[in-house]
Amino acid sequence: MSPAHYPGSVRLYDTYSRSLVELPAVPGPIRMYVCGPTVYARAHIGNARPFVVGMWLRSWLRATGYEAQLVHNITDINDKIYDAAPGASAELAALATEWYLEDTSGLGLGMPDRLPKATECVPQIVHFIEELIETGHAYASGGDVYFRVASFADYGRLSGQKPDQVEQGEEPSTLKDDPRDFALWKANKPATEDTWWDSPWGRGRPGWHIECSAMAEDIFGPAFEMHVGGLDLVFPHHENEVAQSRALGHPFAQIWAHNGMLRFTGEKMSKSVGNVATIRETLDEWGREAVLVFFLTASWRKPIDFSPETMAQAAARRDTLRNAFTLAAADHDESGWPAFAALLDDDFDTPAALAVLHEWASAGQLELLRRGLRVFGLESLSERDEAPAEVVELAERRLAARAERDFETADRLRDELAALGWQMRDEPGGSYSLIRDS
Ligand SMILES: [Zn+2]
Repeated sequence: MSPAHYPGSVRLYDTYSRSLVELPAVPGPIRMYVCGPTVYARAHIGNARPFVVGMWLRSWLRATGYEAQLVHNITDINDKIYDAAPGASAELAALATEWYLEDTSGLGLGMPDRLPKATECVPQIVHFIEELIETGHAYASGGDVYFRVASFADYGRLSGQKPDQVEQGEEPSTLKDDPRDFALWKANKPATEDTWWDSPWGRGRPGWHIECSAMAEDIFGPAFEMHVGGLDLVFPHHENEVAQSRALGHPFAQIWAHNGMLRFTGEKMSKSVGNVATIRETLDEWGREAVLVFFLTASWRKPIDFSPETMAQAAARRDTLRNAFTLAAADHDESGWPAFAALLDDDFDTPAALAVLHEWASAGQLELLRRGLRVFGLESLSERDEAPAEVVELAERRLAARAERDFETADRLRDELAALGWQMRDEPGGSYSLIRDS
């Protein structure tokens, strides 16, 4: 613990300054913006990580006395959506948004305070682009609009790249003045793009990066405390967000908190290599508590390896923590809490905090254990409620539907159970247990 760090203060690693930075004093506010998924398919389990990190940070900051707010966007305008559903992209985006909300609510952590969608923010985006053009940071060209990278002296600072060596991953375009420039607005391509919006530059749609600058500032204003997202978004997405907002003199995010990537058998999980387990499949196979324990096992900004083995280890840890509540409690010793809190205050060290939870489990410190589990949405491990008759009946019907391979009915019954606040967890031998959501 460095001298600058004192009990009760929270610090996190910031990509922009490449150092641990102290959060403003309690009660803040701490306004957090998380880059959410592009909605065109069931989200894979790696997409759950920024959601979980954001929700846990909000939970911990609130427990610490902060006024913490979490905004998590939905990218529902994007090339990937056009590619995935020619002629029906809006329908797919709406459906995949529903899937994402269902799947993340299945994690049992509650939901962010706001979930803005790009499609609901187009007038604000257009206004933002107009300001960038008026101030000389952007130019219209053939129905597109591009950000002029050379106009922003700090370009490259977040990702650590030299401005003259930057390469935008987007397709090259003869409409750009400079290959480093990136699109803020793209003219409609009628052959492949079935949605568009009117703008001063003609029919088209926003680029991905400007969507996030506009959505974050629409809700929080020009300055806020924290921007969260996967490490894979540092460049170009977040570098471009910084450029767009700071070019207009907006301070934008003070702290850049980037979560590490989820890797599947050692490789970064991606559609291109076919290593995909969805959030839904993972929840169905392992249950929400094992998924959360799994995410606790690695520091939020380090890579985490997802495999049947690591998930089985997480499930075993979950069982150890749950079984502690079947044992006799020791005399309550409050003195253990400050050390646990200090671990989370110091760059949110969940592997160390998880080790303390296990110590409490084996020492019978059940009150501390329950309180610690609550921070991570795992209080349900301490509950042994009897399920009411209607819940048992729904569970029995779901078991029967699954036996008949009627997965549609089984999914519906799962949602009905969730609406009543219960989850059904598979047990060996075809039986199940019913767990109350925390
Ligand atoms: Zn974003």
